[in-house]
Formats: sequence, C-alpha cells, structure tokens
Amino acid sequence: MASKYLSKNYDIIRLQEIMAACHFDGECIIHSSPYKNKRNGYAIVSWRGSLIRAHRLIYQQMVGEIPAGKFVCHICDNRGCVNIKHLFLGTQKENMRDAVLKGRMAKQQKTHCPKGHPYAGENLYIDKNGARNCKRCKSEKRKAYHRENYIPKRQDRARKLLEGE
Ligand SMILES: [Zn+2]
Ligand SMILES: [Zn+2]
Repeated sequence: MASKYLSKNYDIIRLQEIMAACHFDGECIIHSSPYKNKRNGYAIVSWRGSLIRAHRLIYQQMVGEIPAGKFVCHICDNRGCVNIKHLFLGTQKENMRDAVLKGRMAKQQKTHCPKGHPYAGENLYIDKNGARNCKRCKSEKRKAYHRENYIPKRQDRARKLLEGE
C-alpha cells in the first residue's frame, strides 16, 4: 500500500516545514519543537508518521544514515540545535563525554577557557578526572615551557661552545 510518507515530495515539504520552525541563536539553529523534551532538551519532530529527534533527522537527511552504534552529538551546548555544522557522529563514549561536558557546562556556564578559547570540538580535551581543558592553552603552555627552558639551555650551550668555555 502506497503511503504518503514514502513520497519524496512529501519529505521535502516536511523538511521545509521543519526548517521553517527553526530560529537562529548565535551560530545555532534551534528548532522550536512543540514536543521539546523538557528533561533532556532534544527537539522532537514528527517524520513519516513517527517522532524523531530533530538533530538526528537533519543529520540523516543531509549527511546520510547513522551507522549502528553511533550517535549524533552536538559540538555546541544546544540539544535543540539542528545546525549541520554543529553535529558530529560519535560513539557511546564520545556521547558520554559530551554528556559530561554538558553537565559541567550547565553547572559552570563556561563555554570558554580563561583565555577565551572555546571548550568545544577539537579544542576540548577532557582529562581523566572529567575536567575540561583547552588544547590551545595546553600547547601554548608547552611551547612557553620549551621557550623558557630548552631554548635558553641550548643557546647557553652554543654560547659556551663558541666562547670555548
Ligand atoms: Zn548549535
Ligand atoms: Zn585556552
């Protein structure tokens, strides 16, 4: 039996409706879902007769099927966000890491390190204690340590050699 949900046009119209129900919040595109899950904040939309998390739907439609065992995670702190640039495929572990991050963010409301680098995406490093670290600051500290310790020592050694000490 042919279902209206199987028509490609129906999908396109429905996707347009879904996108029309979104608004920008900074870089995020938030779906104002009437079914917004109050507990976890995910936007829920109806799709082909059933309810689905909006960010998963958008990922499926714009990128492709979500492999089994994979999760669609947000780099932003916004579970209602459907900006494809803010979504990435992660494992259960990464999703947990994401959850840890969000729990801490909710508590601390800190999205950036003290120097203003974002605690997100590639720049975020969660240590074994669950604390968030800024990769850029870490690498800058490492470079500064190198500058202060190794380079002077090396220059000193070179100077001594040149002066014949
Ligand atoms: Zn976002
Ligand atoms: Zn930083």
